[in-house]
Amino acid sequence: MSSQAPEERKRRKIRLEDLLNNNIWDVDPRPHIKLDTSKCRDCNYKPCVLLCPTGCYTTHGDDVLFSYEGCVECGTCRVVCPEEAITWEYPRSGRGIHFRFS
Ligand code: SF4
Ligand code: SF4
Repeated sequence: MSSQAPEERKRRKIRLEDLLNNNIWDVDPRPHIKLDTSKCRDCNYKPCVLLCPTGCYTTHGDDVLFSYEGCVECGTCRVVCPEEAITWEYPRSGRGIHFRFS
């Protein structure tokens, strides 16, 4: 049990966006995630769009747009995709996200 007063705990709440902004990315020019968008049109719920914590997937009409640059390598999209439309690997050594915890 924390010895902090409730007010103090409240002040220490940090937004996800602020936490992510602590990190730095050395983006691999070779995408570590590839998407077969032909499978996305018939995907009803598009869980990747809903669940990617950094918004790498967005919709444009029935199409799914993807950018890998802000990926935090959590692997969620690979797990939730019902169509096996995603080819996923880690970026090459030393590339991708470098987590900075504060
Ligand atoms: S979950 Fe898979 S098939 Fe569905 S929109 Fe996302 S990448 Fe495409
Ligand atoms: S691995 Fe995680 S952060 Fe990267 S694109 Fe997939 S869901 Fe988004």
